[in-house]
Amino acid sequence: MKDFAITNIKNLVGVWEQSPTKPLRGNDLANLPLLPDAWIAIQDGIISDYGQGVLPHKYNELPHLDAQGGHVLPCYVDSHTHIVYAACREQEFVARIKGQTYEEIAANGGGILNSANRVAAATEDELFKSAFERLILCANQGTGAIEIKSGYGLNTDSELKMLRVIKRLKDVSPIPIKATFLGAHAFPLEYKQNQQAYIDIIINEMLPQIAANNLADYIDVFCDRGFFNVEQTRQLLQAGKQYGLKGKIHGNELGLTGGVQAAVAENAISVDHLEHTSNEEINLLANSETIGTMLPSTAFFLGIPYPNARGLIKGGAAVCLASDFNPGSSPSGRMSFVISLACIKMKMTPAEAINAATVNAAFALEMQNELGTITRGKLGKLIITKPISSLDFLPYNFGGDIIEKIL
Ligand SMILES: [Zn+2]
Repeated sequence: MKDFAITNIKNLVGVWEQSPTKPLRGNDLANLPLLPDAWIAIQDGIISDYGQGVLPHKYNELPHLDAQGGHVLPCYVDSHTHIVYAACREQEFVARIKGQTYEEIAANGGGILNSANRVAAATEDELFKSAFERLILCANQGTGAIEIKSGYGLNTDSELKMLRVIKRLKDVSPIPIKATFLGAHAFPLEYKQNQQAYIDIIINEMLPQIAANNLADYIDVFCDRGFFNVEQTRQLLQAGKQYGLKGKIHGNELGLTGGVQAAVAENAISVDHLEHTSNEEINLLANSETIGTMLPSTAFFLGIPYPNARGLIKGGAAVCLASDFNPGSSPSGRMSFVISLACIKMKMTPAEAINAATVNAAFALEMQNELGTITRGKLGKLIITKPISSLDFLPYNFGGDIIEKIL
């Protein structure tokens, strides 16, 4: 549906006459402008107008949707996922219940390397089919744009296979997709003792082919203890830049291991995870353009510390929220649950969490001109909620489904 009007809206949420030109920081993150008793008109898939009271006559021709007192908000932007994978990893979930840590499982060939073996054995069609189902699931849960990473290939053939699957998804997806090359997700077992040889393969084999076939928008590196160190991360991000790929980093998940420092030094778009940050990391982020992406469903699922959201916000860092949907550490792409966790576990207010999952997340995918707020000229990708007493009900009702309709 490309042309329609929604009437009888209790609150239109995230309404900005002029879209913010920078991610919201500090106290501004709590600024979630509401327009009560509202209507909105969408024409050719674009937000053309909105206002209060009765729908103006000039829009009477448009098909009407009665929101019946529900709220209308911009769809979520999920800036960090790994939804192309061949098999779920519920055995590792049980192993962790019985006492093994994520790092122990990874050291024994589980974790990312387990997923890599499964991806190598899967056909492109199989990967496409299961990833498409996950993509539709996310879209039906309110996600209006999504980033998808490779990284379960860890050799040239499989990494390219994953990125071709993401390209196919882009062609048929109901929501915009950004593709991220994550060949540096882990060292393959055969390169554990010769790490530079694998880095050379990424730089000399993978990146040129990815660029030649236009298969990625960003490059990502897992910069952490037992994975890629700061020097290796910077080397890879610099190589990506030569092909026009900006950086997005996995950092500070396992410790104070330099991910933020590497991201800021290389002017990365975002540094994601941040379960471990000291004042130094917070200050560095606050004085940079790099966005700190927090993935609370991963902390929830792995039982690891949550990011210090209050410290990051107070310190002035730009933060966003994403699902990290992946088979090992966050097998869910439900952004409404991510928002609930941000409120319950990280003490973000509902307004802060919704902004972090919409407007700031749009910046993390460089889609701030298309998504993230209710602004004329942006895409008409909207969530209509069931009638709820206030927007605070959304995170309060954790795990519940308050979505009436996705547009
Ligand atoms: Zn991830």
